[in-house]
Amino acid sequence: MNGLDFPRKIPKGAGQPVLYLDFDGVLHHENVMWHHRKGPYLKAPPEYVLFQHSDLLASMLQPYPEIKIVLSTSWARVYGCDKAAKRLPAALRARVIGATFHSQMYEPWFVDAPRGMQVWGDVVRRKPRDWLALDDDYLHWPKWCLDKYVRTHEWAGISEPSVRAEIEEKLAVLGCKQLGADLSEGKK
Ligand SMILES: [Mg+2]
Repeated sequence: MNGLDFPRKIPKGAGQPVLYLDFDGVLHHENVMWHHRKGPYLKAPPEYVLFQHSDLLASMLQPYPEIKIVLSTSWARVYGCDKAAKRLPAALRARVIGATFHSQMYEPWFVDAPRGMQVWGDVVRRKPRDWLALDDDYLHWPKWCLDKYVRTHEWAGISEPSVRAEIEEKLAVLGCKQLGADLSEGKK
């Protein structure tokens, strides 16, 4: 054993289907501002409100109870994973198993990395069976991740019809792979 060997906590989600979830530009309009007293708020026309598409995502995930959620949003870095997850409805919150950022990371390096590399780093560490990322940030995603990524609309998030259709299609693949694996293991 050398000095670099130490017991590592195995992250949750190994061998399971995982959805990487950004908040801003996914569950609500992307223009979220931060105020030291008010906390997060939207600077957008009045029809846009924070977390307005959360229930839509919960209903899209409903057929796939095995799919877990990993937060890939700056909310998890700023507020911590648990506090960020508390902003979600119970049906989504119950699926959250972690975040791409954790306290042992060197924060400036994490922040400087493109979103796609933050997610890919978590995939390598967590080893999900399969995964999908929902994000309005489209810059510098690794080429090998693009089939597991849905670019959401920066204002309408997941509610934009073509985005919604793409998510439903890719969730079916993610969910069915799990179902197929369960059947091959003799589960129902
Ligand atoms: Mg975003």
